[in-house]
Formats: sequence, structure tokens, C-alpha cells
Amino acid sequence: MSSIPESVAKVRARIREAAQASGRDPQNVRLLAVSKTKPASVLREAFACGQRDFGENYLQEALAKQAELADLELTWHFIGPIQSNKTRAIAEHFAWVHSVDRAKIAQRLSEQRPAHLPPLNICLQVNVSGEASKSGCEPEELAELAGAVAELPNLRLRGLMAIPEPSDDPAAQHAPFARLRELQESLGQHLGLDLDTLSMGMSHDLEAAIAEGATWVRIGTALFGARDYGQPSR
Ligand SMILES: *Cc1c(COP(=O)(O)O)cnc(C)c1O
Repeated sequence: MSSIPESVAKVRARIREAAQASGRDPQNVRLLAVSKTKPASVLREAFACGQRDFGENYLQEALAKQAELADLELTWHFIGPIQSNKTRAIAEHFAWVHSVDRAKIAQRLSEQRPAHLPPLNICLQVNVSGEASKSGCEPEELAELAGAVAELPNLRLRGLMAIPEPSDDPAAQHAPFARLRELQESLGQHLGLDLDTLSMGMSHDLEAAIAEGATWVRIGTALFGARDYGQPSR
């Protein structure tokens, strides 16, 4: 397996090449390092390579790593499913949440965001894979949800996020990302929302996502190797 510095360099090169191939400025595609199941020491190594933004899916695991890495200036993103009883800790300990898919959760995050912190950056997760996926709001519900979230005082609605069904077929990879971009554009046109963020693309499909306008790619495996859920990694 390659070392973390090698993997970070490889992923950065993939991002740069994909951006250039579609005529985009590579600066406009940011790398979110997805560190779920990986120990704090691994994040520290990525930090040493210049990585600052980390995405976590499980609250308790994330809080433990945040405590271990409190000496580093990191930006934490919550990207996993959100239960109501977790919103307070998420509102207190993260700068971004990519996985908001219902108004009730957004409302709680806004109410519970501490006053001394800037607004919490929010992406709305959309189900762009039809029946195959259970998470994310349905495209038909998106405008209403976005309108409601945009009104909440302690949140800043930044854009949309999706986790399409995995596919090895490039054409099949592009379609859901293009759909997410169109949904985003339509929120701009119909609700006048100024959204600057498309959180889409993972290790196996970041090129397709960047071609369709991704501004955050969320990368785990290509940076840190396969995740072993069977054994605790720390
Ligand atoms: C785990 C995860 C990723 C990273 O996936 P890889 O295929 O390992 O790059 C990205 N986004 C979300 C929401 C995840 O849960």
C-alpha cells in the first residue's frame, strides 16, 4: 500500500487533471478527506501533507478524534446520517454538515448552534438514485426544504450533496451528478438562492463528479486505504 503522502499527492493530481480536462480551475475543487474508521495518527499524517478538511460519519468517533487532534487547526465536516439526539453535538463541534435531508434536523442545528460560532455551513443531501437509495430528500421535496433551511438564522445553506449508486460505467456515473447540478441551478433560478457548493464524488468517481461541477470531493479509500469495519482501527 502507498504511504499517506503518496496517496495525497495522487489524489491531488487526479483532481487537478480532472479539473483541467473539463476546463475548470483546480482551485475550485476542494478535497475533503474522509477519515471514518481511521485513527487520529492517520489524520495527523494527512495534516502534515497540508490537508485541513476532514469528513466524519460517526459522531462519537469524530469527537474522540477531535479531542486527540485539538492541537491542530482542522475544519471538521459531518457527512453521515443524523439522528435528532445528535444535533446538539454536531452543531457545537463541526463547521460543515453535508447530510441534512429534513427540515426538523436543520431547525435543531440552527437552534443549537452556539452564538459565538459562525453560521454552520449546510449542504442538503438529495437522493438522485431513485428507489435504490434511502438517504437524502427526494428531488420533488428539495425546493421546499431549501426554502426552509435558507431562512434559519444560524445556518448558511451552501449547496447540495449526493451519494449516487456506485457504477463502473462512466456514463452512468455522470448522470446523477449532472442531475444534482441541475437541481442546484434550478434552486438559484426559482428561489433566488445563491449556492456555491456541490459536494459530490468519491474515490471511484471523482473524475465524473468534477466534470459535472463538484466543488468538494469526499475521498476516503484513495487516501487512506480500504476500511476494515470488522476490526476497530484504533
Ligand atoms: C465513506 C464516505 C465517503 C468516502 O468514500 P470512498 O469511496 O472511500 O472515497 C464519501 N462520502 C460519504 C458520505 C461517505 O460516507
